[in-house]
Amino acid sequence: MSTPAPAKQATAHAPMDQFPICNGELVVGGMTLTRLARRLGGTPFYAYDRALINRRVAELRAHLPARVKLHYAIKANPMPALVCHLAGLVDGLDVASAGELAIALDTGIDARQISFAGPGKSLSELDRAVAAGVLLNVESAREVRLLADISAACGWPARVAVRVNPDFELKSSGMKMGGGAKQFGVDAEAVPALLAEIRQLGLDFEGFHLFAGSQNLKAEAIVEAQTKSFELALRLADQAPRPVRCLNLGGGFGIPYFPGEARLDLAPIGACLQGIAEESARRLPEAELVIELGRYLVGEAGVYVCRVIDRKVSRGQVFLVTDGGLHHHLSASGNFGQVIRKNYPVAIGNRMDAGDAESASVVGPLCTPLDLLGDRMMLAHAEPGDLVVIFQSGAYGYSASPRDFLGHPAPHQALV
Ligand SMILES: *Cc1c(COP(=O)(O)O)cnc(C)c1O
Repeated sequence: MSTPAPAKQATAHAPMDQFPICNGELVVGGMTLTRLARRLGGTPFYAYDRALINRRVAELRAHLPARVKLHYAIKANPMPALVCHLAGLVDGLDVASAGELAIALDTGIDARQISFAGPGKSLSELDRAVAAGVLLNVESAREVRLLADISAACGWPARVAVRVNPDFELKSSGMKMGGGAKQFGVDAEAVPALLAEIRQLGLDFEGFHLFAGSQNLKAEAIVEAQTKSFELALRLADQAPRPVRCLNLGGGFGIPYFPGEARLDLAPIGACLQGIAEESARRLPEAELVIELGRYLVGEAGVYVCRVIDRKVSRGQVFLVTDGGLHHHLSASGNFGQVIRKNYPVAIGNRMDAGDAESASVVGPLCTPLDLLGDRMMLAHAEPGDLVVIFQSGAYGYSASPRDFLGHPAPHQALV
């Protein structure tokens, strides 16, 4: 095994040193990429490394106070084997559709440890969630009223928490999901009236859910959001039908995707949650505190691997044409919510010791210029047959891509 390359200048990608290298090849799940490609029946593929997921959860736990429960948000990667693995490591699962609910229930986790959020839940989804006994994070008065009807029909009260659209925004978040005008949650100022309705309808009120945003790499912004979320929950708790038993403070922990980004510092977040846990023990003594993370748990443990099919030079620019593309990995192509396209970390996975030799663009087989996985990146010299690796691909990859677009086969997927 060789040591990872030293960190480069600030405009470089964060070092992708989570995977070992053996004989010049990246090792994922204990196997070199060429062997893994054989094992999976060829390229392209997604592979998620169990040991790295375990390590990530352990690192997080080391920073979290014992009172703070850790949930996995399935949306980030709903692969059943991976969700099953995580169900054994975390304290709960968060789902956002009946499909995700089924995956969560199949893991065998206690239904009481599953929560269901998301705007526009259908009547059937609400019905199935109440029958399963999961916690519903309600996002509107409509949901509350439908849940009252369902509760009356099935003979037990729905378990509900109110998802609050806070009166502040998460700073420096990749994706804002709370504050201002949003389709998510109930505006903080409208929550007291909804709490009164929940009381009157006899639903089983458990607490609050706040989710300020996603993909945040600034610890101080996350600390501020958690602090403000906690303060808001304390204010709202005064008007609740009964003492708060569950307070979900969201998450939004980011991972470094682009040049110049660095890994999140967990220490200040852990310290902040420690303070919140202590105050919560006094002011909300029955409450379980929860944070819900998606990409932070799985994103760095996953790679997407495709094979170079053709090497072309067009007017001096090298193009590595691969068997993978945006239809498998929309996020890496820059078309999943990015304003300005930036490169994910990319390497030639079977030439890890070769050093950066040339500027090359990695493209796929689709007839659209959007099918770009790496734009003029410094890479090892690659020829047809070589393996291109896209790092940071364990979240919002396979399930967040338009796999039918242009009719190529879907990639393989494995937890290794
Ligand atoms: C998307 C989402 C998450 C997960 O976000 P990550 O950035 O993957 O951690 C968590 N909670 C809610 C409510 C979400 O919508």
